[in-house]
Amino acid sequence: MASKRAPARIFCIANQKGGVGKTTTAVNLAAALAVLGKRVLLVDLDPQGNATMGSGIDKRTLEKTVYEVLIGEAQIRDAAVAVESGYDVLPANRELSGAEIDLVQMQARESQLKQAISEVAGDYDFILVDCPPTLSMLTLNGLTAAHGVVIPMQCEYFALEGLSDLVNTVKRVHANINPELRLIGLLRVMFDPRMTLQQQVSAQLESHFGDKVFRTIVPRNVRLAEAPSHGIPGVLYDKSSRGAKAYMDFGKEMIARIKKW
Ligand code: ATP
Ligand code: MG
Repeated sequence: MASKRAPARIFCIANQKGGVGKTTTAVNLAAALAVLGKRVLLVDLDPQGNATMGSGIDKRTLEKTVYEVLIGEAQIRDAAVAVESGYDVLPANRELSGAEIDLVQMQARESQLKQAISEVAGDYDFILVDCPPTLSMLTLNGLTAAHGVVIPMQCEYFALEGLSDLVNTVKRVHANINPELRLIGLLRVMFDPRMTLQQQVSAQLESHFGDKVFRTIVPRNVRLAEAPSHGIPGVLYDKSSRGAKAYMDFGKEMIARIKKW
């Protein structure tokens, strides 16, 4: 019975560094969890609208988006779109870039998304929030609404530097705004095992963060990069690709982690 299921677990996919694989992770995790029988809402919290387009929704033709939801002019149920890949998307487009300014004038501005999500938490098993590459009011809304943060990262030298800013932000949000928030894990993406530096950084991550590093490693895989232009998540675009298999494994690993809570 759907009504007996526990309310949704909410996860932000965040990293203030640009182009590190947040959206690819958000879209493919949403699709993988849907394949595994979970009810999933993917919230696109980035004015770039990449998760929206990558899920097959034309961001230019939307009447209601996450923007109207954040400023209290729409409900998630009215703005969310069910996509063929088996999950729902709360879409975004450039309009969302105005939200930073609108939110400044609102009370409880960091909890707008949390409030909106509370209305639909019973409808889903997982709510995934694709954050923009900033530590902005939008990302703060994501962190305030979430139970956990998943950080995708490339195993490059400078990746570790940026990580401490994000980890500190997560700690501060945990201490001041959202005591439920925790770091779920670091996901190594676009991994190329032939590169010695990547192996070294990967080993450093494991020794420093221990079991906060997901066991799944997502390889650099061209099929994952091609999929968004077809509006289909990589896990469905070419199921036999190494990238698709890795994200399916990641979906299973997420489900297993949550069971331990
Ligand atoms: P932004 O900070 O702009 O939101 P992002 O962190 O969401 O970026 P993505 O858009 O997911 O990053 O990925 C950046 C680019 O890398 C995209 O072109 C994407 O298709 C490609 N990419 C992501 N993951 C992989 C992978 N495992 N293998 C190959 N290409 C990948
Ligand atoms: Mg993105």
